[in-house]
Amino acid sequence: MRPIRTTVAIIGAGHAGLAMSRCLTERSIDHAVFERGEVANSWKTERWDSLRLLTPNWQSRLPGHAYAGNDPHGYRTMAETVAFLQGYSRSISAPVLAHTSVTSVRRTDDAYLVSTTQGEWRSRAVVLASGACNIASVPALAAGVPSTVASLTPMQYRNPGQLPEGGVLVVGASATGVQLTDEIQRSGRPVTLAVGEHIRMPRRYRGRDIQWWMDAAGILDQRFEELDDLERARNVPSLQLAGYPDGRPVDLNALTSLGVRLVGRLAGLRDGKALFSGSLANQAALSDLKMNRLLDTIDYWAARAGRGSALEPPRRFAATRIEASPPLSLDLTRGEIRAVIWATGYRPDYSWLHVPVFDRKGRVRHDGGVADSPGLYLMGLQFMRRRKSALIDGAGDDARELSAHLERYLRASGRVAA
Ligand SMILES: Cc1cc2nc3c(=O)[nH]c(=O)nc-3n(C[C@H](O)[C@H](O)[C@H](O)COP(=O)(O)OP(=O)(O)OC[C@H]3O[C@@H](n4cnc5c(N)ncnc54)[C@H](O)[C@@H]3O)c2cc1C
Repeated sequence: MRPIRTTVAIIGAGHAGLAMSRCLTERSIDHAVFERGEVANSWKTERWDSLRLLTPNWQSRLPGHAYAGNDPHGYRTMAETVAFLQGYSRSISAPVLAHTSVTSVRRTDDAYLVSTTQGEWRSRAVVLASGACNIASVPALAAGVPSTVASLTPMQYRNPGQLPEGGVLVVGASATGVQLTDEIQRSGRPVTLAVGEHIRMPRRYRGRDIQWWMDAAGILDQRFEELDDLERARNVPSLQLAGYPDGRPVDLNALTSLGVRLVGRLAGLRDGKALFSGSLANQAALSDLKMNRLLDTIDYWAARAGRGSALEPPRRFAATRIEASPPLSLDLTRGEIRAVIWATGYRPDYSWLHVPVFDRKGRVRHDGGVADSPGLYLMGLQFMRRRKSALIDGAGDDARELSAHLERYLRASGRVAA
């Protein structure tokens, strides 16, 4: 059978794919959105039960959509997030082909052949909006966890009831790690948290949500071309934030107040023994320093913008408390630790992309989302075009710019149709 033709194939119906769909519709560019599950599949099937967005409701702006509910400062549950994105998809009449997995994308002479579980398509351009967090990144040393200890990724974790009674080692103290630590410790299972590089962030500052500050002060709009070290910016850990209705913090001080034991970065696992780096105090001090620098930037912006007097006065938070000699090892064979959770990050899955665009680390080579293959685009990656690129709120600006680029590409390459 001959492939079905579409001008643009968008892979993934998360917010990034939907934002791009809306922008292509505005430009009258015919397209199809391929989705292996249903709209918002990642939020529906890959997150833990209690997760809420850590971005407030007002900060889920998408092309043609602004929050109009009565709780702009609340944080959506997963069910609310799914309902929100499904509603958005309907409102923009996105041409989503649900339950259609893309199994391969290949470049032909002047187009792409997109193979799916529902047949083959030919498109002039392809947008990879398949997500930045498809696979939990687990270090190779995880293989050394004794068989008597459960080993889970955050994508497998749903709630503490799933874990055996007893101690839990959470590896990684970014947004996912600190949120799971908070929940598991509160469930009565004592948590040891292995802390490497992390970004401490207050939920509220001077009477406003920290996301409000970063948005208002233009920090989230910082562009990729402006950075000296883009590679570094694309790999910084997520902020230690949670979207709890009570607004409680999840920084290391909040966790130790609950009884969580902090240890350094997990550096090795030998003969059932976890070995931790001795850099915990340094990591914590560095994180405090960076947080204070950001708060300085915010205060400076507030003063210049003439906002200072209307807000609570500047303040600084207590330094992170670290015990004098945190343990450097933990014997996982002793029975104290019954489960390990690898909150060590996520990565995209492009195993079906058969186009020679990968660098030595297996990442797609791109310049602000314009991939190194004609007519191939990305969406939703960390600091792709702006600091906010991986956030729901960042997809709109990126989709507007990339859809303009895509339209120019279609015109320059002669035809708009496939
Ligand atoms: C735990 C966690 C919490 C987060 N919290 C927030 C938050 O509070 N606020 C915020 O703004 N951002 C948050 N993010 C970040 C952000 O929303 C994610 O980076 C999101 O994955 C990016 O959206 P997306 O549309 O690019 O990807 P996704 O939402 O992952 O959508 C990609 C879609 O592509 C589909 N897909 C993948 N492969 C294929 C294929 N081969 N064929 C067909 N379909 C395919 C998937 O099923 C999925 O529906 C969070 C991320 C994580 C992991």
